[in-house]
Amino acid sequence: MISVVIPVHNEEENIPLLLARLRKVMEGFGRPYEIICVDDGSVDRSLELLIAACSNYPHLKVVELTRNYGQHPAVMAGFSQARGDVVVTMDADLQNPPEEIPRLIKVMEEGDYEVVGTVRRVRRDSYFRIMASRVVNLITRRITGIDMTDWGCMLRAYRRPVVEKMVAYAEQATFIPALATVFAKRVTEIEVEHEQRHGGKTNYPLRKLINLQFDLVSAFSNLPLKVLLYGGIIMSFLGMAFGLTLIIARLYFGAAWAAQGVFTLFAILFFFVGMQFFALGVLGEYLGRIYREVRRRPSFVIQRIYGPKDNGGNL
Ligand code: UDP
Ligand code: MG
Repeated sequence: MISVVIPVHNEEENIPLLLARLRKVMEGFGRPYEIICVDDGSVDRSLELLIAACSNYPHLKVVELTRNYGQHPAVMAGFSQARGDVVVTMDADLQNPPEEIPRLIKVMEEGDYEVVGTVRRVRRDSYFRIMASRVVNLITRRITGIDMTDWGCMLRAYRRPVVEKMVAYAEQATFIPALATVFAKRVTEIEVEHEQRHGGKTNYPLRKLINLQFDLVSAFSNLPLKVLLYGGIIMSFLGMAFGLTLIIARLYFGAAWAAQGVFTLFAILFFFVGMQFFALGVLGEYLGRIYREVRRRPSFVIQRIYGPKDNGGNL
């Protein structure tokens, strides 16, 4: 059985076409399947549309969350309800064509892979997003040591044991494609098509992108902390050397020379103050995340499940 897990946040314009295309693909593929749409605190008519669609789509299960938890926690909520032997994740905005799903599963079965990731062949996003994500992909690959080409593409297939482990060990700030590499050994990637958003607008303004990136880096590496440590040591040595230079120059050139350095000093001071704030910010980010982890609050809360009665729907 195949489960397709889709996080949905304000996607009312995309839901009808999404479900129709998915059904066509899955019926054509001919395996037993279920579609799990997780409503991640939408404030438009998404949930309403999804619940209404249940009568039309017997394979559809709708998971309603209590509020907006974010894309990855929403996928995790879907994982917790998925019953398939293979679980496929994709976006609701039809940027990932559902037509690619059979190929994903074929590759998984033929190569006996546990995870099949994807690389977007030609990305249909704004130029800024594409450039930014190139840089981010590269840095993230270096920092985390995880060899994944395209971090942003959510069209992926996971085998059941991997999904179960991800649910069991879910952390507060999860980045699912990266987490999967912890629990799976045989991982591969294939190229897939990418389309423009069908309707509505992106849920990822710059602020959310930066936050996601930090989740990713802090969850998989301590490098920012190390940079802080060694950077701090180097900086203080430089500071000492600079102070020494100033003293010597003052003795050599006299007081008049030194007075004119006042503003240089200010500039340097500001630079260091800035660095300190930056350092504190990095620390704060970690601290905040540790705090969140320590509180052990669930990363998502399911309000209600709609769908087929036979698998425990309508809780
Ligand atoms: N999403 C979600 N919760 C959020 C943000 C996004 O469930 O807080 C879903 C969204 O509905 C979509 C997927 O995550 O199915 C990817 O979001 P989006 O397409 O807005 O991101 P982009 O493609 O612009 O990176
Ligand atoms: Mg999108």
